[in-house]
Amino acid sequence: MSSPSPTEDSAARPAQAAVSVRDVTKSYGGRKAVDGVSLDVRRGEFFGLLGPNGAGKSTLVEIMEGLRKADSGSVAVFGEAPWPRNTALLPRMGVQTQSSAFFVRQTVHEHLRTVAALFGAESAAVDATLDAVGLGGRHDVRVDDLSGGQRQRLAIASALVHGPELIFLDEPTAALDTEGRRDLWEVLRGLKEQGRTIVYTTHHLDEAEALCDRVAILVAGRLVVTDEPQHLIGTFGATSRLLVPLGRIDEERAAALPGVEAVSVRGGHLVLETRATGRVLAALDAVAGLDGVQTRTPSLEDVYLDITGRRADTAEENQEQQA
Ligand code: ADP
Repeated sequence: MSSPSPTEDSAARPAQAAVSVRDVTKSYGGRKAVDGVSLDVRRGEFFGLLGPNGAGKSTLVEIMEGLRKADSGSVAVFGEAPWPRNTALLPRMGVQTQSSAFFVRQTVHEHLRTVAALFGAESAAVDATLDAVGLGGRHDVRVDDLSGGQRQRLAIASALVHGPELIFLDEPTAALDTEGRRDLWEVLRGLKEQGRTIVYTTHHLDEAEALCDRVAILVAGRLVVTDEPQHLIGTFGATSRLLVPLGRIDEERAAALPGVEAVSVRGGHLVLETRATGRVLAALDAVAGLDGVQTRTPSLEDVYLDITGRRADTAEENQEQQA
């Protein structure tokens, strides 16, 4: 990776950035996994990295963490290059370990003490970290007796025990049930409240919408958009849906209402898609009444599917044209 001169570098990067990525590219064989990505993660921000499988999220995160070398472009973490391995940055960064890296025969407390010792962290931090992730009552349980959710908490504790300012979490709620996910959300919100910066990959769009200050969406190695979830939903023009009980109005008539963009039948309802909810509601009221009509506002998931679906189509078209 080229290292820009200090003057050039500081001019291009905001001072408040915890992580600053500039024009980073990485190929495996002839295939670009990350293709010219630039982004800034602000200090104290909960930053989500979203995208379909194979989009390049892990590769990009590993480059940010200093675990992988970019082919070109540059990365700064708190103003310093993470590659080649930068030992000055290690105490400031926490990387969620995969559960395969656990010392499974140890108890929870022994495991975290071992991790703390590896990082040179104080053993007093162990109790506080276990409390912070909700494992305070599990000190003496063997790691291989923990539930999936408790293991995820221990993975997060292992990334936290040395008190890093910046934490990378890769799908920490994968394989958790709904209750386990919600519990973990509280832990993650707590980390943000402590002022830590979090870089977060997830496949759960509801989670990204609930937790992240901003999200970046990667498709086929390219950064498509970086924005606040609510702003993205508002500006990207995803449609709202009106659910009208079947039999109230026929499909053809519904499709002709001003502002209706699409009509489909789903689960006992006629679903009208629109970007002009008020106009359609008024027109519907006049012809069929509004009893039992439900409105569904767009979510981050709608916008995400819209963006990734469309980009995937474009990528396929480009490949076909090149073939
Ligand atoms: P994501 O995390 O979004 O699923 P990845 O960064 O894992 O994406 O992968 C991006 C692309 O790079 C994929 O096409 C994947 O197959 C490829 N890839 C990832 N790691 C390697 C590797 N070590 N060797 C070769 N190809 C890889």
